[in-house]
Amino acid sequence: MKIVLKHLTKQFISRHNKKEIVTAVNDFDFEIPDGKLIGLLGPSGCGKSTTLNLICGLEEPTEGRIYFDDLDVTDLPPENRGVGMVFQNYALYPHLSVRQNIVFPLENLKGEQKLDRESMNQRALEAAKLVQIEELMERKPNELSGGQQQRVAIARALIKTPGVLLLDEPLSNLDARLRLQTREQIRRIQKETGITTIFVTHDQEEAMSISDLIIVMEKGVLQQMGEPQEVYSKPVNLFVAKFLGTPAINVFDGYIKKHKVYIGKEVVGERKVSDQEVYVAIRPEAFVPDTKGKFSCEYDRTETTGRDTSIVTHHEKCISDYDIRAIVSSDAKIVTDKNNLIRFRLKDDKVHVFSKVDEKVI
Ligand code: ATP
Repeated sequence: MKIVLKHLTKQFISRHNKKEIVTAVNDFDFEIPDGKLIGLLGPSGCGKSTTLNLICGLEEPTEGRIYFDDLDVTDLPPENRGVGMVFQNYALYPHLSVRQNIVFPLENLKGEQKLDRESMNQRALEAAKLVQIEELMERKPNELSGGQQQRVAIARALIKTPGVLLLDEPLSNLDARLRLQTREQIRRIQKETGITTIFVTHDQEEAMSISDLIIVMEKGVLQQMGEPQEVYSKPVNLFVAKFLGTPAINVFDGYIKKHKVYIGKEVVGERKVSDQEVYVAIRPEAFVPDTKGKFSCEYDRTETTGRDTSIVTHHEKCISDYDIRAIVSSDAKIVTDKNNLIRFRLKDDKVHVFSKVDEKVI
């Protein structure tokens, strides 16, 4: 099922100041293709949950329409939209067993949709198998680990075979290892079922690792949508460049003069545009130590974390509120001159230039 959002906007009266309007979702106008896993990504308060709530019908839009394939679902109540929803806190019923929790959405079906007990249990077992918890059917939620509870919540969301599955920060309550396992499970389940799935997270690594497409939003506005690697390597603006990547991209004050991009007096690229002040953003993996390189930074220290070796440096034009990090191969030779400067060659495609006027890519 594809999801089409047409000029979708949601405004709230601010919780803090009744005279203020908060635009949680601002003119979303795009299509989410059928059968894909979409990572919806952005900082806290940017409108991710509101987007999901609009799609599933828990919130009414202020403006705009929502279509599932060609069907306008904007005025349909949540229970008639065929959407499965999984929340961060699992929302399981503590007094019910795993089986009863999973079966719950089927209990209140009416008319032709109503199922007999045996069919319900059969469906519950199928959903439980999909998330690999079929051995836990008679346990109560408090007898399960966080990851297992989350899988029960996913099975419950899947039991009505929804056309759309919405997952709102489903992994936030899990420890690092379980998070990794559960996100792989979600990827597998999504592939097996082919259900169009939107996965909300503020963890960019999580979104990038399992999504077919990511949507980056800020302050209710869609910033960029695309395949994770494409968004990472071709950010359309400074916000997206800064939001994706660990360690984060290094940002410098720079300028363009006669088609050359400068940081201080050193040339770091070329752009065929008029002379202007710019931001130059350089990915940590763009730096290659090279005594003949054109760009120099003041050497501070070398850090090794697991596989990565980072050279930590400073530069007077750097405006990030963290040290400059260059990720280099572990056998890279670090040579500094008498002024403690280390020289780098820069990989061109990992140096991004943004306008100082609107922060869009140049
Ligand atoms: P988080 O990652 O912290 O969950 P989010 O990206 O999911 O954040 P939303 O919960 O969608 O963000 O909120 C977007 C904006 O809308 C925020 O400024 C929030 O305070 C505001 N907001 C959300 N729901 C309401 C509401 N019912 N009434 C007033 N303001 C709201």
